[in-house]
Amino acid sequence: MTSVLMAEALRLQILQQARGAHPAECCGLLLGAREGQRFRVTGLYPARNLSSDPQRFEIDPRDHLAAQRLAREGAAAVIGCYHSHPSGAAMPSIADRAGAAEDNFLWLIAGGAKGDESLNAFVYSRGVFTGADWVTSSG
Ligand SMILES: [Zn+2]
Repeated sequence: MTSVLMAEALRLQILQQARGAHPAECCGLLLGAREGQRFRVTGLYPARNLSSDPQRFEIDPRDHLAAQRLAREGAAAVIGCYHSHPSGAAMPSIADRAGAAEDNFLWLIAGGAKGDESLNAFVYSRGVFTGADWVTSSG
């Protein structure tokens, strides 16, 4: 089973960003390392959402490049992305399925009722999103 190791502080940061972007979707990139079946997230890179459709997100390619540069400087990699569903479930949408491209890429999706948002983890590979387990760390 695939798992995600991420500090609670980073999880809260994504939920906070999701609330701040409401009613639009927030988005960003996940920095860290793949360790076998485990994705270790060590940093976030909030990105501009270029989509004019509030039901979609499109990460600004300049932010994607900047995140890759930052990751390399820290001997890490861009291992995934995150975004929010301001009025939907924390599950991959049809638009997400259509937009996903990179295999073995971690997707964190924030969604749910306002004030009670949750963050779920999925790994995209060969056309399929598979749920991943959370392993939170305090560090
Ligand atoms: Zn989505």
